Amino acid sequence: MEDTIAAIATSVGVSAINIIKVSGPKAIEIVNSIFKGKDLTKVKGFTINYGFIMDKEETVDEVLVSVFHSPKSYTGEDVVEINSHGGIACTNKILELLLTHGCRLAEPGEFIKRAFLNGKKDLIEAESISDLIEAKNESSRKMGIKGATGELSKLIKNLREKLLNIIANIEVNIDYPEYEDAIVYTNELLDTSIKEIKEELQKILKQSNIGKMIKDGINVGIIGKPNVGKSSLLNKLLDEEKAIVTDIEGTTRDIIEGKIVLNGVTLNLIDTAGIRKTDNIVEQIGVKKSKKIIEEADLIIAIFDGSRSLTEEDNEIIKSLKDKKVIALVNKNDLEQEIDLDKLKNFNIIKTSFINNEGIDSIYEEIKKMFNLQQIDSGDYTYLSNARQISIVKNAVSLTEEIYNSNKIGTPVDLVQIDIQRLWELLGELTGDSYKDELLDEIFSKFCLGK
Ligand code: GDP
Repeated sequence: MEDTIAAIATSVGVSAINIIKVSGPKAIEIVNSIFKGKDLTKVKGFTINYGFIMDKEETVDEVLVSVFHSPKSYTGEDVVEINSHGGIACTNKILELLLTHGCRLAEPGEFIKRAFLNGKKDLIEAESISDLIEAKNESSRKMGIKGATGELSKLIKNLREKLLNIIANIEVNIDYPEYEDAIVYTNELLDTSIKEIKEELQKILKQSNIGKMIKDGINVGIIGKPNVGKSSLLNKLLDEEKAIVTDIEGTTRDIIEGKIVLNGVTLNLIDTAGIRKTDNIVEQIGVKKSKKIIEEADLIIAIFDGSRSLTEEDNEIIKSLKDKKVIALVNKNDLEQEIDLDKLKNFNIIKTSFINNEGIDSIYEEIKKMFNLQQIDSGDYTYLSNARQISIVKNAVSLTEEIYNSNKIGTPVDLVQIDIQRLWELLGELTGDSYKDELLDEIFSKFCLGK
């Protein structure tokens, strides 16, 4: 980590200011060599200094320069942040000067990687910063900031501490049986402690589903044979003419996507071409896509035309929805009804008329109920949410169950302790207390430049 790195931290466009970040052992010295104003090598940390960036005798820009001394900085190294005027020309020129004066261009995520390696951020915090930057709605933001400020890590660290206590205690029991102050861990005593940890981990895993839902949204596939009202529903939900509404059958061949936010969760709406049998090659592609959407969607809104009897295609659709979360809309409720509702009895049914604006609110209510979205408003947003984290917690839950069962059948405590140690190490991967270099590269390379 000898290099001093530099990058533009803000997005470059026409803006009032941009920030160029510099971090590393020579950060202050290098910036000072292109700065006219106070001698930056002599100023205190946490100061903002007015001056000019110079290219030899030529003034490049009028700037404010913040100086942070190691270890009290974002990366833990000496850090300088140059507030330049916005726009491509100023910012690039300053970056260019920094690079010709001894800085190296930072790799994506390299600032935060250094913060991690210097113990300023743990892995959960670092990943949450990425989530925070990418947050597109309020609940994602709330979740991101909880993680970025260490609330989420605290949960895991507390658990690890409890495990460490047990491990240490058992070690003392084994090594110093005569030591009277230590609790003597028997299988019975361990039973209570492991049960508590198991329940906490199960809760974290359960809540990570909420976290994932907030982060990735719910994929909602809208399916139905042509002309039942799929595009009309999309239009109603999106409240804009995003989908094409027409009387001609089979026009919605392409999948149209839109997003709406319900109780802080994004619903990704995906229109489908239906799944009728067809010889038309273009339609066949659409049908194939529809089947894939059904497979991958978290929720299917299946629309049926209430004014007609169910057709073969409707039956195909009904068959394809087995084992899925489904809301069945019986649409065109304003017309005389011909549909045999008995065939839809396995689904949650809502009668709608898009022409008369009937039933839309009931759809929202049903989705809220099915995904328990009310819990999000009352939750505290301290949720794990990315695939890496969730997969570790899943493994931790299984391991804890194993430990619990093995302890239950009276496995000697010193053997149980070995598995408890494995669990402790596994949880360490979450916060980055134990990690592999490849994992770090994988995580931090996902960040944008300048983070
Ligand atoms: P899609 O092919 O499934 O996407 O269906 P569209 O949304 O394009 O609708 C097909 C036709 O049915 C259009 O003429 C709509 O105006 C009409 N339609 C949609 N919903 C209703 C409804 O609730 N009642 C009546 N009477 N017509 C509807």
